[in-house]
Amino acid sequence: VTVAVIGSGPSGLYAVQALLDARADVAIHVFERERTPLGLVRFGVAPDHLKIRSMEDRLLAPLDDHRVTWHGGVEVGKHVAREDLADTYDAVVYATGAPLPRRLEVPGEDVPGVVHARDVIDWYNARPGRSSFVEHSAANDILVIGGGNVALDVARMLLRDKEELRTSDVPDDLLDHFDSVARRAVTIAVRRGSAATKFTAKELLEITTLKGVSVAADHGIQGPTGEADTVSARILAQLPTRHINADRRLTFVFDSVLERIDRHPSGRLRVAFRRDSGPTADDFDLVVGAVGYQRSAPWEYGRYWTDVEPLRSNEFLVGWAANGAQGLLAAARTSAATVASQVVQMLPHDRRASSLSDPEVLLAGRSDGHVTVAEWRVRDQHERQSGRRREARRIKLREYDEAPTGPQTLWRRPAQG
Ligand SMILES: Cc1cc2nc3c(=O)[nH]c(=O)nc-3n(C[C@H](O)[C@H](O)[C@H](O)COP(=O)(O)OP(=O)(O)OC[C@H]3O[C@@H](n4cnc5c(N)ncnc54)[C@H](O)[C@@H]3O)c2cc1C
Repeated sequence: VTVAVIGSGPSGLYAVQALLDARADVAIHVFERERTPLGLVRFGVAPDHLKIRSMEDRLLAPLDDHRVTWHGGVEVGKHVAREDLADTYDAVVYATGAPLPRRLEVPGEDVPGVVHARDVIDWYNARPGRSSFVEHSAANDILVIGGGNVALDVARMLLRDKEELRTSDVPDDLLDHFDSVARRAVTIAVRRGSAATKFTAKELLEITTLKGVSVAADHGIQGPTGEADTVSARILAQLPTRHINADRRLTFVFDSVLERIDRHPSGRLRVAFRRDSGPTADDFDLVVGAVGYQRSAPWEYGRYWTDVEPLRSNEFLVGWAANGAQGLLAAARTSAATVASQVVQMLPHDRRASSLSDPEVLLAGRSDGHVTVAEWRVRDQHERQSGRRREARRIKLREYDEAPTGPQTLWRRPAQG
């Protein structure tokens, strides 16, 4: 029996493993838009979260199975049509994530100097072709809008110093940026009170104990309100209200509703808030919106699959593609187990793997950036080897033209459009 899995982030890879475990005669073709597997474990999770990054070997294990072929640089909806997949395979599992950031929805959000957390995350995660944040990377006064862990990730990475990232996978040239800003103030503005944020205790402890960073909180005129009955709320309620003398500062501002952003001729951004004390405004060099990702079915955001049709009986959604941008790796694994068992139930009982269609035929002439698993492994090995000199798991290669020893043409830049 044949299954196509679209996307090789955690949900896709967990689904592949669950399908392999459930059906000995399954042949699985994985199609991945990026030229590397791992989805947000490579391009979302912060580089200083070494433990989560170390999950990658387990996640990648199913790609070693002879029943699986992985095809990078193949975007479903662009290089392969949804209909062709549904017609060709016994089942098609969409594990395409939820990549569209949610907008701030205030006047001024499109002025230069206002970016989305994804721009910062793509930059520090060395996502190919997505380094536009570099022009802002020396900003001193930064406002991050958001009350969840992504806001903490961005703030923490912007306050880290180079030494602390040496054993991470951040490329050498990018590492130098973390040393180039001597003085930096990051403010995290949250629309709710400190008792109602979505910050997790682990991430809060991490950011409030950063080396060389002074942390303070502004709870508004009423002080911390609401029941501080979670560990996170207690950590926030106990933060000092004033900074000690330090070159790097982090300030939490609660009960602060963003109203509008205006750009001065000088390039500074004036940001207006509504607070319990009345309207206020502050100036910043950069505003980062970290208010989450849109819930969108895979064929809605791609703009390639314009006909929004319901799922066919052999099409399935898993992970963030199914549930929206929520949940950690453990949730992706649970989702994958559930969906894999649904897939197995609908798969025919009597067909052999030999009936499988050749993905090369499906892909012929469609994607000049197509990367096979063997080609990806060359690059993967190069990354791991170069990590050794910094005691890092790997050091990421960013651009296509940085191809190491493998055949250069395999990593040529894909044609535009
Ligand atoms: C900034 C950030 C930090 C996070 N930090 C942590 C953390 O520290 N710990 C933790 O447990 N979780 C963390 N998470 C959550 C974790 O990343 C998610 O739970 C998990 O990645 C969801 O997996 P997924 O496979 O559903 O989606 P994704 O990881 O987004 O994978 C989707 C894959 O599909 C591919 N794809 C998309 N469209 C197509 C297409 N049309 N054709 C082919 N391929 C396609 C993408 O390239 C990608 O590889 C974080 C998330 C974010 C955003």
